[in-house]
Amino acid sequence: MHSCSRVTSSTGKKRKVTPRCVAAIVHKDYPGLYETPTAKILLGLVQRKLGVEVSYTTCLRGKKLAVADIRGDPEKGYKILPAYLYMLEKANPDTKTSLVVDKNNRFRYLFVALGASIEGFEYMRKVITVDATFLKTVEGGCLIIATAQDPNLHHYYPIAFAVVDGEKNESWKWFFTTLKTIIPDSTELVFVSDRNPSLIKVVGEVYPMSKHGYCIWHLSHNVKAHVNQGRDEVALQFRKVACLYSEHEFKKQYDDFRERYPSCARYLDKSVEVKRWAKCHFPGARYNIDTSNCAESLNALFEKARRMSLLPMFDTVIDKMSEWFNRHRKNAAEGPSSRKLVSLVENKLHKRTPKGSKLSVTPLNTFQLEYIVLGEDGKTYYVDLQQKTCSCRKFDIDKYPCRHAIRAIIKCLQHDKPLQLSDMYDFISNYYFITTWAKAYRRTIYPVPHITHWLVPKEVTAAKCPLPPDYKKKKEDIRKKASFGGRKSAPFPS
Ligand SMILES: [Zn+2]
Ligand SMILES: [Zn+2]
Repeated sequence: MHSCSRVTSSTGKKRKVTPRCVAAIVHKDYPGLYETPTAKILLGLVQRKLGVEVSYTTCLRGKKLAVADIRGDPEKGYKILPAYLYMLEKANPDTKTSLVVDKNNRFRYLFVALGASIEGFEYMRKVITVDATFLKTVEGGCLIIATAQDPNLHHYYPIAFAVVDGEKNESWKWFFTTLKTIIPDSTELVFVSDRNPSLIKVVGEVYPMSKHGYCIWHLSHNVKAHVNQGRDEVALQFRKVACLYSEHEFKKQYDDFRERYPSCARYLDKSVEVKRWAKCHFPGARYNIDTSNCAESLNALFEKARRMSLLPMFDTVIDKMSEWFNRHRKNAAEGPSSRKLVSLVENKLHKRTPKGSKLSVTPLNTFQLEYIVLGEDGKTYYVDLQQKTCSCRKFDIDKYPCRHAIRAIIKCLQHDKPLQLSDMYDFISNYYFITTWAKAYRRTIYPVPHITHWLVPKEVTAAKCPLPPDYKKKKEDIRKKASFGGRKSAPFPS
C-alpha cells in the first residue's frame, strides 16, 4: 500500500495531501477497521502527522477510500458478492445465502443466515422478532433482521438478515419464503413484529400455522400518539397492561387505562386486535419474551453498520455475532457444574421458593395433581401440575413454576426437607436448562477472510456479477409520480 510519510518533494515544495495519503494514515493507525475516526478528527490527526494543511473533503474521501481498500468500493462490493458469499459459506458450513438480481442483472435481494445460528435456533424458544430498518447508504434499501431471544438475558439472538428494496409486499414475501427453507412452519412458532400491513399479510400466507403478535414497544409508540400530554407515561402504562398475565387483572387494569386515556383505548379497540398485544390473550407460547427494549438493542447493533456499504455492513454484523456467541458460550461453560438452569430463571425460583412455601394449599385431586393455593393477596389459585398451569397464568406462559405452583409441588412431593431446585426440574421448560442454552452457542462464527486470502472456484468468479441496485432511482420515480399525481395534466406537453 502506498505510504506517504514524506509530503515534501525533492524540490522542497510542499506537496498537496491527497485522499490516498489520508487513507494510508488511516490504514496505519486503524489497520483492517471499518470504524475509523470522523473526517473532522482525521483532519487534526493528518495535520499533526504531516504538518501540512488538509481539507475536510480530502479527509472524508480518504476515510472512504480506506474502507474501500478493505472490501472494495461499494460498486465493487456488488461485483464480488458471489465470491464473498462463497467464502462466507465455506467458512461457516450450513450457512444459507440467497442472492436475487432483476432482469437487468441489478442487485435486488440478499438473504444470509449463518449455519451456527440456524442450528442454534433449535435450542431457542420459538419466538422470532422481525424488524426492518432503512439503510443509510447511497443505494438505500432496507435491512430485515429476524431474531430469537436469549432465555437468560433477554438480548437478541440473530437468525437471519436480508437486504431488500423496501418494506413492500413482494420483498416481505421473498424474505419469509426464504426463511421458511431454514425454519419450517409449525404451531409452536410465534412471530413478533410491528404492524406493517404487508408483513402481517405475508406471515399469514407463508406461515399459516404460526401465531403473530405485535411488538409492545412499537405499539406503545402508536398508542401514546393519541394523547397530547404525558406521552411517556401513557406508553409506560400501556406496556404494563399489555404484559399482565391474568385475564382478570388485565380486564381491571385495562378498564382503568381506558378511563384515564379514552382516546388511546378507542384507538386500540378500533384498530388492534387485543389478542395481538395483550400477553394474557395471546394464543401462542410467547414465554416471558420481552419486546420492550427491542428498538434499543437492535439500534446498538446496527446504528453504525447501516451507514456502511453492503459488505462492510455484513462483516460488521458477523463480527458482532461472533463476539456474542463467544461471550455466551463462555458464560454457559462458567459457573458451578451444579448449576442447571440459566441464572435468570434460577434467581427467580430462588426468590419465589420461600414465599411460595408459606402459602396454604388444599389438594383437589391427588391423582391428577390438582391443587387450590391461597395466594398472599387472599385470592385462591388453581394449580394443575400435570398440565403445568396456574390460574395466575405465569406458570403457563413463562413455563417455569409460579409461587402457587411451588406450593403445590411441595405438597405433591410430601417432603419434610425444604424444596430444592432439582425438585422443580420436571416443571421447567427445557429451554431454560444450561445444557440446552449452551447448545445454541456451540458453533464458532467465522468472519470472511481478507480478500487476498480468498480461494474461489472458477464457476463462481465466472458467474455474472450483479450490478448495484437502482433503489434510489426507484424512490425518485415514486416521488415524481406522487408529485405529478396531484396535477390534472402531465407537466410536459405531449
Ligand atoms: Zn419492536
Ligand atoms: Zn400461580
